[in-house]
Amino acid sequence: MPASLFYTDEHEAFRTQVRKFVEREISPHIEAWEEAGAFPRELYAKAGEVGLLGVGFPEAYGGTEADGFHKLLLTEELCRPGSGGIVAGLMSHGIGLPPITNMGSDALKEEYVPSILRGEKICALAVTEPSGGSDVANLRTTARRDGDHYIVDGSKTFITSGMRADVITVAVRTGGEGMGGISMLVIDGDTPGLTRTPLKKMGWWCSDTATLYFDGCRVRAENLIGQENEGFRGIMQNFNNERLMLAGMAIASAQVCLDEAIAYARDRETFGRPLIKRQVIRHKLVDMAQRIQSARAALELLTWRVDQGQWPIAEVCMLKNTATQCMEHCAKEAVQILGGAGYIRGVKVERIYRETKVLAIGGGAEEIMKELAARQMGL
Ligand SMILES: Cc1cc2nc3c(=O)[nH]c(=O)nc-3n(C[C@H](O)[C@H](O)[C@H](O)COP(=O)(O)OP(=O)(O)OC[C@H]3O[C@@H](n4cnc5c(N)ncnc54)[C@H](O)[C@@H]3O)c2cc1C
Repeated sequence: MPASLFYTDEHEAFRTQVRKFVEREISPHIEAWEEAGAFPRELYAKAGEVGLLGVGFPEAYGGTEADGFHKLLLTEELCRPGSGGIVAGLMSHGIGLPPITNMGSDALKEEYVPSILRGEKICALAVTEPSGGSDVANLRTTARRDGDHYIVDGSKTFITSGMRADVITVAVRTGGEGMGGISMLVIDGDTPGLTRTPLKKMGWWCSDTATLYFDGCRVRAENLIGQENEGFRGIMQNFNNERLMLAGMAIASAQVCLDEAIAYARDRETFGRPLIKRQVIRHKLVDMAQRIQSARAALELLTWRVDQGQWPIAEVCMLKNTATQCMEHCAKEAVQILGGAGYIRGVKVERIYRETKVLAIGGGAEEIMKELAARQMGL
């Protein structure tokens, strides 16, 4: 990835460490894992051992203090093998854990955070429901108070790491209608009444995705994260960070497409000359680079602003769309430049092409990003 004003030598040393881990533990296996539809559970422990799962989480619970650029370069490096599934699956605690670390009690943090950051337990976030994911304020899964417990009934779908998560951060309705009746609960994966079914997908094959069913699940009242009926703000705060991360994934994947397309165009000869000598191809490559450069500049600026404590919600929504559109364009052009080779399974650009839609839908779909940005802009 190109050098940037925002990265220090310390960031670059961290990048080298992550790159070595990815080259050793992920890249050689990624094709097989994608075909198998899963990566080994042991990868969490390996990543935990070298501190990759703890980046940006509190030291008191086994994490490492880090700024947004550490998280960004971690995402970039994990994207280099050209599989968003590994990033989404291995890092699902990146969306499941922040509600606990930001709003949970000390007891909850002590109980759940260290084992997740060591990679011993897998953590997922469950907000989306079969009745809809965009309209979070109208979610239907209920948690009814019964003495020292909540009784949870309902279902969640499209949940990353849903099949094998040991700890699930679940958005539930504890109060009346709308956003003021929503809370977040930590639910253990072995809770009686919780069942799961796996889902097959267009892309992200090696990540596990599932529908979860809660049928009279008894959950300790201490597992409430923060205050009852005040979960919506936490969910939105979490979305803001997730959207930055998804933008990072999209831009890093676009960069992989560009790198692959340049390498192929240098090597491939047609009509007696390398493809890269054709103006049409060179302009396609520059157009990809141009979009990546603009999207990355916005991403870095917003990462910096969030690090300063700002909440640029509209800008993050627009960035997510810019970044995913950039990825869609670059994946489309890279497949075209590789010709038939770009259509063959096991080729990075083919995989990334199949992953474009999940980034434009997950964590808030493109239309919802525009709607949210419009509201923030007072339109
Ligand atoms: C592989 C994968 C992994 C995922 N992982 C997770 C996870 O770990 N945890 C989790 O909670 N969720 C997860 N999701 C769910 C994801 O966040 C939702 O799919 C997304 O928020 C959209 O919700 P929906 O699919 O229910 O679409 P809907 O809300 O039903 O919307 C359908 C379409 O209509 C559009 N639309 C909706 N409302 C409007 C409107 N008012 N105006 C115009 N257009 C509108 C949407 O933009 C979308 O394109 C995952 C999804 C996928 C595919």
